[in-house]
Formats: sequence, C-alpha cells, structure tokens
Amino acid sequence: MTDWMNDAACRGIDTVIFFAAYTGDPLREAKRVCATCPVAQQCLDWALDTMTNGNDVDGVYGGTTHTQRKKLREQRQEAAA
Ligand code: SF4
Repeated sequence: MTDWMNDAACRGIDTVIFFAAYTGDPLREAKRVCATCPVAQQCLDWALDTMTNGNDVDGVYGGTTHTQRKKLREQRQEAAA
C-alpha cells in the first residue's frame, strides 16, 4: 500500500462500484467518490505510471476510466516526443 492510499475517499467502500465489468453502469457512483477524494491526482498518476494501455483494461482511478487514461498516456507520449 502506498501512503497516499490512507487518505483515499474510497477507503472502506465496496470497490465493485469502480469496475464497470461488475456494475454494468457508466461508473457515475465511482466518479462521484473520486470527485471528493483528496488524493485523486496521486491516484491518477499511480494508474498512469504503473499500468500500461495493455493491462489497464477496467476500473476508475483518479476519476478517470481506462479509455480516458489511454488518451492521457497518448498525450503524454506526444508531449515527450
Ligand atoms: S481517486 Fe478515486 S479510486 Fe483513486 S483513491 Fe481516490 S476515490 Fe479511490
């Protein structure tokens, strides 16, 4: 566990709401939780840095879906080129 996770708004919440594969909904509830989270940026950075487009297939991290994170990674790569 990373230190910032101690302050996560999702701590103690049933994490099933963060995975569309289980909920079948557009993840509105997960995004609502993330919108109140004091460590959302750290969470997003962690997701972008530790997962790749190939293994980042589901879940809401830092208020973003895997599709949004894929686009963010592409933008990072373009900016670095
Ligand atoms: S941004 Fe969302 S998924 Fe990430 S730690 Fe906060 S509440 Fe949890």
